[in-house]
Amino acid sequence: MELYTGDINQLIDELGALPGIGHKSAERMAFHIINLPHDRVKRLSDTIIRAKENVKYCKECCTLTDAEYCPVCANARRNHRMIMVVENTRDLAAYEKTGKYEGVYHVLHGALSPMNGIGPADIKLKELLQRLQGEVDEVIIATNSSLEGETTAMYISKLIKPAGIRVTRIASGVPVGGDLENIDEVTLLRAFEGRTEL
Ligand code: ZN
Repeated sequence: MELYTGDINQLIDELGALPGIGHKSAERMAFHIINLPHDRVKRLSDTIIRAKENVKYCKECCTLTDAEYCPVCANARRNHRMIMVVENTRDLAAYEKTGKYEGVYHVLHGALSPMNGIGPADIKLKELLQRLQGEVDEVIIATNSSLEGETTAMYISKLIKPAGIRVTRIASGVPVGGDLENIDEVTLLRAFEGRTEL
């Protein structure tokens, strides 16, 4: 016997498909939403749709933003000749939280994974190469220290070193398989300061 009827089940399924949300949490959220006043639910669903429609890639670094250029790229005081390559927008946010990095970023939106069929055309690599046509002093590769992150780092370094641009990799103080966003700021800064030439 079904515990709940169609619409409730569907809401629980949709919420439960979100990352980090187990079935119990999805149930709790579903009933919470159903018990909210109608205008609150409308505001929530409108916010989701508006974010989905307005958020796009920054024209320079490909991070997610609702402006043409993200706040980092739009800031003339940042060093636009130093580019830190990260896997996703959350990694960018982790480095921004340290408040110590003065360069700009490039967000790949993924990492190379031959095993899962993710190749160079599936991440924002072409966009990075285009940026390197301009004036760039250093590319800091800050992909995760997972197999995919390391594969991506090696690939990028081989690709851009012949252009004579300095390529560095953040130190492996970052635990293997660790997501950058879960690492504390001190460890991130140490990894940045201890970066090595590739
Ligand atoms: Zn940007």
